Amino acid sequence: MNELNDIVLSPDPRLAQECAPVETIDDEVRALAKRMLKTMYAADGCGLAGPQVGEMRQIVVIDVDWAGKGSKKNPYVLINPEVVVADGPERTGSEGCLSFPGVSVSVTRPSHVVVRARNLDGDLMQYEASDNLMAVCLQHEIDHVHGVTMFDHLAPLARAEAEREYQVALAAGARPGDTEVEG
Ligand code: ZN
Repeated sequence: MNELNDIVLSPDPRLAQECAPVETIDDEVRALAKRMLKTMYAADGCGLAGPQVGEMRQIVVIDVDWAGKGSKKNPYVLINPEVVVADGPERTGSEGCLSFPGVSVSVTRPSHVVVRARNLDGDLMQYEASDNLMAVCLQHEIDHVHGVTMFDHLAPLARAEAEREYQVALAAGARPGDTEVEG
C-alpha cells in the first residue's frame, strides 16, 4: 500500500498553509485528481485535499459512499471549491483525518452547506448537503485547502488532549485509515 506513503501527516507545516487556486484544468490536474482518488481509496478515506498529498492547490476529492474494497465508487472532484452558504443548526460529530492517523475528535460545524466548485471539465457545479456525512466532509476538505485542520476547531484543552492522543497513536504505529471516517 505505497499510496499511504503519499499522505502528508501532521505536524507537517504544509497542512497549515493556504493553497493557490487552480488556474487551468488540464491533463496534469486531471492526473493529480486521479492520483488523489487512488490514495483516498487505498486509505479508505471519504475525502482528501491537495495539501494532504503535498500539492498546495485548491483541489479536493470526496466519496462519501465508499465503503471499502468491492463497494460502489461515487467520486467527486472539486476544483477551487468555495463554501457559499454554511448555516442551519450546529452539529457535533466525530471526525477523523488521513493526516492524523489513529485519532478521531469531536468537531462542531453548521449542518447545512452550499458549495460551488469547478469539475474536471471546467463546469461550475453547485453542491448542497444537510445533516449528513457529505455536509461534514465538504467542510472538512475545504478547510484543508485553507490550511485549517480538524484540530483547529477544538477548544485549547480539547486540542491539547487530542495532540497527546495523536502522539501516542503515532508512536504505536498508526497509519492513515486507522480510524473510522476520515478525510
Ligand atoms: Zn482531513
